[in-house]
Amino acid sequence: MTSDAAALAAAARALADHLRFQQALGVRDLALHGEALGGAPAALRRVETASAGCTRCKLSRGRTTIVFGAGDPEARVVIIGEGPGEEEDRQGKPFVGRAGQLLTKMLESVGITREEVYISNIVKCRPPGNRNPEPEEIAACAPYLAGQLAAIQPGVICALGTFAAQQLLATREPISRLRGQLHRLGGAVVVPTFHPAFLLRNPGPAYRRQAYDDLKLIRREYDRVRGRAPEGA
Ligand code: URA
Repeated sequence: MTSDAAALAAAARALADHLRFQQALGVRDLALHGEALGGAPAALRRVETASAGCTRCKLSRGRTTIVFGAGDPEARVVIIGEGPGEEEDRQGKPFVGRAGQLLTKMLESVGITREEVYISNIVKCRPPGNRNPEPEEIAACAPYLAGQLAAIQPGVICALGTFAAQQLLATREPISRLRGQLHRLGGAVVVPTFHPAFLLRNPGPAYRRQAYDDLKLIRREYDRVRGRAPEGA
Protein backbone atom coordinates (compact mmCIF):
# COMPACT_ATOMS: atom_id res chain seq x y z
CA MET A 1 0.00 0.00 0.00
CA THR A 2 1.26 3.53 -0.73
CA SER A 3 1.52 5.86 2.26
CA ASP A 4 -1.47 7.86 0.90
CA ALA A 5 -3.61 4.72 0.68
CA ALA A 6 -2.48 3.64 4.15
CA ALA A 7 -3.35 7.08 5.58
CA LEU A 8 -6.78 6.94 3.89
CA ALA A 9 -7.41 3.43 5.25
CA ALA A 10 -6.39 4.57 8.75
CA ALA A 11 -8.69 7.61 8.49
CA ALA A 12 -11.60 5.39 7.35
CA ARG A 13 -11.00 3.01 10.27
CA ALA A 14 -10.88 5.92 12.73
CA LEU A 15 -14.12 7.33 11.29
CA ALA A 16 -15.84 3.92 11.47
CA ASP A 17 -14.68 3.54 15.07
CA HIS A 18 -15.96 7.02 15.91
CA LEU A 19 -19.37 6.30 14.30
CA ARG A 20 -19.67 2.99 16.19
CA PHE A 21 -18.81 4.88 19.37
CA GLN A 22 -21.51 7.50 18.68
CA GLN A 23 -23.98 4.67 18.01
CA ALA A 24 -23.05 3.07 21.34
CA LEU A 25 -23.80 6.43 22.98
CA GLY A 26 -27.28 6.24 21.51
CA VAL A 27 -26.74 8.85 18.79
CA ARG A 28 -29.08 8.16 15.86
CA ASP A 29 -28.73 11.37 13.84
CA LEU A 30 -25.36 12.88 13.11
CA ALA A 31 -25.16 16.66 13.23
CA LEU A 32 -22.29 17.65 10.99
CA HIS A 33 -22.09 21.11 12.51
CA GLY A 34 -23.69 23.13 15.28
CA GLU A 35 -23.76 22.66 19.02
CA ALA A 36 -24.08 19.25 20.62
CA LEU A 37 -27.39 18.69 22.39
CA GLY A 38 -27.21 20.30 25.85
CA GLY A 39 -23.94 22.05 25.04
CA ALA A 40 -20.40 20.99 25.91
CA PRO A 41 -21.03 19.96 29.57
CA ALA A 42 -23.83 17.53 28.63
CA ALA A 43 -21.93 16.20 25.62
CA LEU A 44 -18.86 15.60 27.77
CA ARG A 45 -20.97 13.86 30.44
CA ARG A 46 -22.37 11.53 27.76
CA VAL A 47 -18.84 10.52 26.73
CA GLU A 48 -17.81 10.01 30.37
CA THR A 49 -20.91 7.90 31.01
CA ALA A 50 -20.06 5.80 27.96
CA SER A 51 -16.55 5.23 29.31
CA ALA A 52 -17.75 3.94 32.71
CA GLY A 53 -16.62 0.36 33.31
CA CYS A 54 -14.67 0.33 30.03
CA THR A 55 -12.92 -2.96 29.19
CA ARG A 56 -11.79 -2.05 25.67
CA CYS A 57 -8.15 -2.83 26.52
CA LYS A 58 -6.06 -4.69 29.08
CA LEU A 59 -5.27 -1.54 31.09
CA SER A 60 -8.77 -1.94 32.56
CA ARG A 61 -7.56 -4.97 34.54
CA GLY A 62 -4.96 -3.07 36.57
CA ARG A 63 -6.68 0.25 37.15
CA THR A 64 -8.21 1.59 40.34
CA THR A 65 -10.20 4.29 38.54
CA ILE A 66 -10.74 5.58 35.03
CA VAL A 67 -9.09 9.00 34.91
CA PHE A 68 -11.45 10.56 32.40
CA GLY A 69 -10.44 14.22 32.63
CA ALA A 70 -10.96 17.34 34.71
CA GLY A 71 -11.56 21.03 34.25
CA ASP A 72 -13.90 23.38 32.45
CA PRO A 73 -16.06 21.59 29.81
CA GLU A 74 -16.24 24.91 27.97
CA ALA A 75 -12.50 25.54 28.11
CA ARG A 76 -10.85 27.04 25.04
CA VAL A 77 -7.59 25.28 25.95
CA VAL A 78 -7.35 21.50 26.35
CA ILE A 79 -4.19 19.84 27.69
CA ILE A 80 -3.56 16.21 26.70
CA GLY A 81 -0.98 14.07 28.51
CA GLU A 82 0.07 10.47 28.13
CA GLY A 83 -1.69 8.43 30.79
CA PRO A 84 -2.45 8.44 34.51
CA GLY A 85 0.31 7.65 37.00
CA GLU A 86 -0.04 6.09 40.43
CA GLU A 87 -1.43 9.16 42.18
CA GLU A 88 -3.85 9.93 39.34
CA ASP A 89 -5.07 6.30 39.37
CA ARG A 90 -5.69 6.61 43.12
CA GLN A 91 -7.47 9.98 42.99
CA GLY A 92 -9.23 9.57 39.63
CA LYS A 93 -7.94 12.98 38.49
CA PRO A 94 -5.32 13.81 35.84
CA PHE A 95 -1.97 15.40 36.66
CA VAL A 96 -2.17 15.46 40.45
CA GLY A 97 1.32 14.02 41.11
CA ARG A 98 4.77 15.61 40.72
CA ALA A 99 4.39 16.09 36.96
CA GLY A 100 1.02 17.69 37.65
CA GLN A 101 2.55 20.18 40.06
CA LEU A 102 5.04 21.19 37.40
CA LEU A 103 2.25 21.42 34.81
CA THR A 104 0.38 23.82 37.13
CA LYS A 105 3.51 26.00 37.41
CA MET A 106 4.10 25.89 33.65
CA LEU A 107 0.55 27.12 32.99
CA GLU A 108 0.83 29.78 35.68
CA SER A 109 4.06 31.05 34.12
CA VAL A 110 1.90 32.37 31.26
CA GLY A 111 -1.04 33.42 33.44
CA ILE A 112 -3.28 30.39 32.86
CA THR A 113 -4.94 28.56 35.77
CA ARG A 114 -5.88 24.89 35.85
CA GLU A 115 -9.51 25.88 36.44
CA GLU A 116 -9.79 27.57 33.06
CA VAL A 117 -8.48 24.61 31.02
CA TYR A 118 -9.58 21.00 30.55
CA ILE A 119 -6.98 18.29 31.19
CA SER A 120 -7.03 14.69 30.05
CA ASN A 121 -4.80 11.96 28.66
CA ILE A 122 -4.36 9.79 25.58
CA VAL A 123 -5.16 6.70 27.69
CA LYS A 124 -7.55 6.99 30.62
CA CYS A 125 -6.26 4.03 32.65
CA ARG A 126 -2.85 3.71 34.28
CA PRO A 127 -0.28 1.65 32.38
CA PRO A 128 1.30 -0.74 34.93
CA GLY A 129 4.53 0.58 36.45
CA ASN A 130 4.03 3.78 34.43
CA ARG A 131 5.23 2.08 31.24
CA ASN A 132 4.48 3.69 27.89
CA PRO A 133 0.97 3.07 26.55
CA GLU A 134 0.92 0.47 23.75
CA PRO A 135 -0.53 1.17 20.30
CA GLU A 136 -3.61 -1.08 20.88
CA GLU A 137 -4.30 0.71 24.19
CA ILE A 138 -4.02 4.12 22.55
CA ALA A 139 -6.31 2.98 19.71
CA ALA A 140 -8.84 1.52 22.17
CA CYS A 141 -9.05 4.85 24.03
CA ALA A 142 -9.05 7.04 20.89
CA PRO A 143 -12.87 7.24 20.59
CA TYR A 144 -13.10 8.69 24.12
CA LEU A 145 -10.50 11.32 23.29
CA ALA A 146 -12.28 12.09 20.01
CA GLY A 147 -15.56 12.36 21.96
CA GLN A 148 -14.02 14.73 24.50
CA LEU A 149 -12.58 17.00 21.82
CA ALA A 150 -15.85 16.92 19.83
CA ALA A 151 -17.77 17.89 22.98
CA ILE A 152 -15.46 20.70 24.12
CA GLN A 153 -14.42 21.96 20.68
CA PRO A 154 -11.35 23.77 22.03
CA GLY A 155 -9.47 26.38 20.05
CA VAL A 156 -6.07 25.33 21.41
CA ILE A 157 -4.82 21.85 22.28
CA CYS A 158 -1.53 21.43 24.13
CA ALA A 159 -0.05 17.98 23.48
CA LEU A 160 2.31 16.99 26.29
CA GLY A 161 5.07 14.69 25.12
CA THR A 162 5.65 12.29 22.28
CA PHE A 163 2.63 10.02 22.70
CA ALA A 164 0.06 12.80 22.86
CA ALA A 165 1.63 14.75 19.99
CA GLN A 166 2.04 11.71 17.74
CA GLN A 167 -1.50 10.45 18.38
CA LEU A 168 -3.20 13.83 17.88
CA LEU A 169 -1.19 14.67 14.78
CA ALA A 170 -1.15 11.13 13.33
CA THR A 171 2.61 11.21 12.83
CA ARG A 172 5.74 9.36 13.98
CA GLU A 173 7.84 12.56 14.17
CA PRO A 174 9.64 13.02 17.51
CA ILE A 175 8.46 15.69 19.94
CA SER A 176 11.71 17.61 19.40
CA ARG A 177 10.63 18.17 15.76
CA LEU A 178 6.95 18.77 16.47
CA ARG A 179 7.31 21.33 19.27
CA GLY A 180 7.86 25.03 18.70
CA GLN A 181 5.19 25.30 16.02
CA LEU A 182 1.44 25.28 15.49
CA HIS A 183 -0.32 22.33 13.86
CA ARG A 184 -3.96 22.27 12.68
CA LEU A 185 -6.47 19.72 13.93
CA GLY A 186 -9.96 20.47 12.66
CA GLY A 187 -10.91 23.87 14.05
CA ALA A 188 -8.16 23.84 16.68
CA VAL A 189 -4.43 24.48 16.74
CA VAL A 190 -2.21 21.92 18.43
CA VAL A 191 0.86 23.12 20.31
CA PRO A 192 3.11 20.18 21.21
CA THR A 193 5.59 20.59 24.03
CA PHE A 194 7.72 18.50 26.38
CA HIS A 195 5.93 16.38 28.96
CA PRO A 196 6.49 17.78 32.49
CA ALA A 197 7.75 14.32 33.59
CA PHE A 198 10.44 14.61 30.90
CA LEU A 199 11.35 18.06 32.22
CA LEU A 200 11.62 16.65 35.74
CA ARG A 201 13.94 13.90 34.48
CA ASN A 202 15.99 16.38 32.44
CA PRO A 203 16.44 19.46 34.61
CA GLY A 204 18.48 22.32 33.29
CA PRO A 205 17.65 25.44 31.38
CA ALA A 206 17.69 24.25 27.75
CA TYR A 207 14.49 22.16 27.66
CA ARG A 208 12.72 24.45 30.13
CA ARG A 209 13.42 27.45 27.93
CA GLN A 210 11.94 25.65 24.92
CA ALA A 211 8.91 24.60 26.96
CA TYR A 212 8.43 28.22 28.04
CA ASP A 213 8.53 29.31 24.39
CA ASP A 214 5.78 26.74 23.67
CA LEU A 215 3.72 28.00 26.60
CA LYS A 216 3.98 31.54 25.26
CA LEU A 217 2.62 30.20 21.95
CA ILE A 218 -0.29 28.65 23.85
CA ARG A 219 -0.93 31.96 25.60
CA ARG A 220 -0.87 33.83 22.27
CA GLU A 221 -3.26 31.37 20.61
CA TYR A 222 -5.54 31.38 23.67
CA ASP A 223 -5.80 35.16 23.43
CA ARG A 224 -6.40 34.91 19.67
CA VAL A 225 -9.27 32.38 19.95
CA ARG A 226 -10.91 34.51 22.65
CA GLY A 227 -10.51 37.62 20.51
CA ARG A 228 -8.25 39.30 23.07
CA ALA A 229 -5.14 41.34 22.36
CA PRO A 230 -2.03 39.74 23.91
CA GLU A 231 -0.90 41.43 27.13
CA GLY A 232 1.50 44.30 26.48
CA ALA A 233 0.31 44.70 22.85
N1 URA B 1 1.41 12.00 33.38
C1 URA B 1 0.46 12.02 32.41
O1 URA B 1 0.76 11.94 31.23
N2 URA B 1 -0.79 12.18 32.78
C2 URA B 1 -1.17 12.30 34.04
O2 URA B 1 -2.35 12.43 34.29
C3 URA B 1 -0.16 12.27 35.03
C4 URA B 1 1.12 12.12 34.67
